[in-house]
Amino acid sequence: MRRLMKTIHIKKGYLPRLAGVPADTLKPLPPPGRVAACPARIPFIKPRLRVKKGDHVQVGTLLYEDKQDSRFQFLSPGGGRVEDIRLGPRRRVEAIVIALSPDEKRVAFPELSKLQLETISRPDLVERLCTGGIWPLIRALPFRDIADPDTVPPAIFISMDNQEPFQVPADIYLKGNEDLFEFGLHVLKRLSDKIYIAGAKSGRAGQPDAGRWANLTYTGKYPAGDPGVLLYHLKNTPDENNSWFITGQDVLMVARLLKNGRYPTRRVIAVGGSAAGDACHVQTRLGAPIAHLMDPVPDATTTRYVAGGVFHGHTVTPDDFIGLYETALTVLPEGNEKEFLALFNPGWRKPTYSRIYLSALNPADLPANCNRHGDERACIACMHCADVCPVDILPQLAYKAILAGEVEEALAHGLLDCVECGICTCVCPSKIELTETLKTARAAYRKEQRCG
Ligand code: SF4
Ligand code: SF4
Repeated sequence: MRRLMKTIHIKKGYLPRLAGVPADTLKPLPPPGRVAACPARIPFIKPRLRVKKGDHVQVGTLLYEDKQDSRFQFLSPGGGRVEDIRLGPRRRVEAIVIALSPDEKRVAFPELSKLQLETISRPDLVERLCTGGIWPLIRALPFRDIADPDTVPPAIFISMDNQEPFQVPADIYLKGNEDLFEFGLHVLKRLSDKIYIAGAKSGRAGQPDAGRWANLTYTGKYPAGDPGVLLYHLKNTPDENNSWFITGQDVLMVARLLKNGRYPTRRVIAVGGSAAGDACHVQTRLGAPIAHLMDPVPDATTTRYVAGGVFHGHTVTPDDFIGLYETALTVLPEGNEKEFLALFNPGWRKPTYSRIYLSALNPADLPANCNRHGDERACIACMHCADVCPVDILPQLAYKAILAGEVEEALAHGLLDCVECGICTCVCPSKIELTETLKTARAAYRKEQRCG
């Protein structure tokens, strides 16, 4: 039977050629000494701790749940002793650190066969995903919060890959796991009648080994593969705005929990960036320490570590841990050194969007650093941000409306369609924090909606 295939052409976006792309290899790492769960990295939840320092836990023991919906449960990625509970500003729980014991024990969850999957009721299936700590991997548009287990989504998008530099390609995490992925797909099909399995048309998810499942392909630059971008170009009715999404790697997590009856802890992380040294993909544990992912660990005084994506991730230290939603670590030079005769440097190796450097003619991958070369300035109405926005927002106008407190106007400019991709900020010559401002406004709007 022929599979229905749809292709979407995303015209806007931006993908600079950056040095430090991870090699096509998967390097298994030795087990770390400790792992952690990081509640502060899960947006919109209010964590209620279920363990205290010194407790002994197994892989799969409940560590914390969301106070607003206790079905959102977060389980221990390791077996051992709760070594530390790190608190941040206003006593926000940053990390629950587990020192792993050599004989880790695991909580046993009920196993589900392929046959049982066909007959299990939807509420029972949802319950298993919730108590197995996997439900938070399924998120809902437009806010990207954890999906509401009581609703049936109009569609679920599975992101097989992503046009973002330094992310794990589908063929790397899928290799040898094809049957598991197939099982995970069957699970998701029980949650929605419409499943979009999305991969880049010319990308590696389009290759025979990884692309056999894709029923939605796309062309275009970053963030073309983002589920929010695909939905924006696909939707016919406003109801579809509440579609759900999950990454291809997380589909494997769903399958491992249900098929094997164990909380899955395997994670593939892309370690890239011009200061990464050995840029490659590593196979490690969920919640592994950042320092464990790099060998050697670059000097923290001259290097920045970004977890979760080079355009929209957040800064971490070698002492931190990789979060539940993060599958990339980008390592970049701070770039604070004084440049000799900088004024006369034509910028042959400096990434540029506005073509002010000679590098616009350089076909090589360029070594980006974190130097912003100056502070925020006034908007010069260059329209670069609008030129790259994949969901046709005019970011500078949405930004100004937010600063003026004009929420309705920001919504009219497409605030809810924003996918928080970060490229408007990246290309802005005035260094205006467009993405962060829109993200904060979106979160405030969501809160207002939920609180009535
Ligand atoms: S406005 Fe949102 S979607 Fe558009 S480029 Fe900026 S962050 Fe991306
Ligand atoms: S890119 Fe920056 S300077 Fe240019 S229009 Fe947008 S906000 Fe203004």
